[in-house]
Amino acid sequence: MSNEIEKPKKRISYLFLAIILVTLALSTVALYQALIEYDAGNTGSGNSLLLIGGSGFALSAYMLFQTRRRTMRLQIKEQPVITTILCQKCGFKNVRDFQRGDYIFKEAEPCPKCNEKTSVASIYREVEEKH
Ligand SMILES: [Zn+2]
Repeated sequence: MSNEIEKPKKRISYLFLAIILVTLALSTVALYQALIEYDAGNTGSGNSLLLIGGSGFALSAYMLFQTRRRTMRLQIKEQPVITTILCQKCGFKNVRDFQRGDYIFKEAEPCPKCNEKTSVASIYREVEEKH
């Protein structure tokens, strides 16, 4: 549905989805076989096939529930990391998204106000505040 999810997460859920689909398919086959066994009068093997099919369905339903919970937790966890850049000369403060390799006191781009060198003052994770 949304293409904004990062690739590794997507691959994990695709794998889970594939496992669930295979389990569902095997369970359907087992249940179908159970019907055939019942039809033929083999109640014993029909019961065991019914058990296999039933537990297969239960297992896939459980896994589907687990993956949903997992992706929901990931969405909650995802919060932007912010880097603030401070000009030592005029105090100009710039806030931008964290970039790979940022660290405190790292030299950053020249100050747009006084063209002096600026440095990273702080790096923090932005937490959504409740109003
Ligand atoms: Zn400045």
